[in-house]
Amino acid sequence: MPSAPLDLFGIDHLLDDEERAIRDTVRAFCGDQVRPHIADWFETGDVPARELAQEMGKLGLLGMHLEGYGCAGTNAVSYGLACMELEAADSGIRSLASVQGSLAMFAIHRFGSEEQRQEWLPRMATGEAIGCFGLTEADFGSDPDGMLTRARRDGSDWVLNGAKTWITNGSIAEVAVVWAQTDDKIRGFVVPTGTPGFSASAITRKMSLRASVTSELVLEDVRLPASAMLPQARGLRGPLSCLSEARFGIVSGALGAARDSLECALSYAATRTVFDKPLSAYQLTQEKLANMALELGKGMLLALHLGRLKDQGRLRPEQVSLGKLNNVRESLAIARECRTILGANGITLEYSPIRHANNLESVLTYEGTSEVHLLVIGQALTGESAFR
Ligand SMILES: Cc1cc2nc3c(=O)[nH]c(=O)nc-3n(C[C@H](O)[C@H](O)[C@H](O)COP(=O)(O)OP(=O)(O)OC[C@H]3O[C@@H](n4cnc5c(N)ncnc54)[C@H](O)[C@@H]3O)c2cc1C
Repeated sequence: MPSAPLDLFGIDHLLDDEERAIRDTVRAFCGDQVRPHIADWFETGDVPARELAQEMGKLGLLGMHLEGYGCAGTNAVSYGLACMELEAADSGIRSLASVQGSLAMFAIHRFGSEEQRQEWLPRMATGEAIGCFGLTEADFGSDPDGMLTRARRDGSDWVLNGAKTWITNGSIAEVAVVWAQTDDKIRGFVVPTGTPGFSASAITRKMSLRASVTSELVLEDVRLPASAMLPQARGLRGPLSCLSEARFGIVSGALGAARDSLECALSYAATRTVFDKPLSAYQLTQEKLANMALELGKGMLLALHLGRLKDQGRLRPEQVSLGKLNNVRESLAIARECRTILGANGITLEYSPIRHANNLESVLTYEGTSEVHLLVIGQALTGESAFR
């Protein structure tokens, strides 16, 4: 009986019962509620994000590694495993959960006032309220420090003007965490999306993450009370620490897309006959499969190691960069290689690898591009910043 790609590494034994149970629950959820529909959602670009968020909320997946306020409070390894299962279904579905939990909810949990936490987190944990995280602007992606969105004081109010782009969940969100320049550095604001002057529109014609809502946000004289500012985040370190949380989820998540691609290629190669025998019986195919299983298992061990470090409170940002860089890069390579094994069938949505590969192009770019993570690692190694 052929081995599943991760069984080869015996990784199951490195997880405890609760971690395995969470993983299996998320896998079953995806099998029931995502996988049967995902190719259609990807094709039409129309995903029932709100309903999915509420289902994920019931399972405790939104903000699952946060404590209190209706959040499940699991360990980091469990959160990574959940991301992996969600992304084995589709990176867009994992993005929905990551942006909700690790960007929007984390920002409010970590940097918000008690009032902001009480107001938003319980509803966000159930999926009743969807959140987005507005950092990127059209001319400031890798270098958000230059952002043009500005918040000025008017009496005790804040008035926000600017535009954000590439914002996941933007046009379905009830609340946006928006980062803006102020006279006192970059600050974060909790913006109810019904506030006059706030508008969001979906970005269409995407070739990647089609089963995910991506939007532009426009803020025109958005007037907010003084209490809307996140009191505990001052400067770029605030949003960057949120990104570090979300990147951690991607370290494991991306491997889900790779695993699903490899499982698909393994089963295809076993049943596809070429030149009178199964494709899987050829050395050239086995070399591809063996190399992919190797990279997948190494990536999983790295993800698990980083998860254990995070649970011990010892994970450093440059270590998250190592994981994000390696695991997304290798997962993309695996999804593409799996596509080749499927031949012409590999270019259709009947099989998952090309969908995963297209999705991973976005994952390679968001939450810090590969180049940005190389520079982070380079700086950690040399002490020299080569960003400018
Ligand atoms: C589907 C999707 C969803 C997203 N969701 C969100 C979201 O929810 N919230 C949010 O705020 N943003 C989001 N983003 C934006 C994402 O974080 C940015 O796209 C990313 O940070 C890169 O910025 P950019 O696209 O402006 O590229 P640029 O910064 O213009 O980079 C272009 C190229 O230059 C390279 N580069 C940049 N700096 C250097 C350097 N110093 N040296 C060498 N090369 C360099 C980059 O690596 C890249 O290859 C999303 C993006 C996508 C595609």
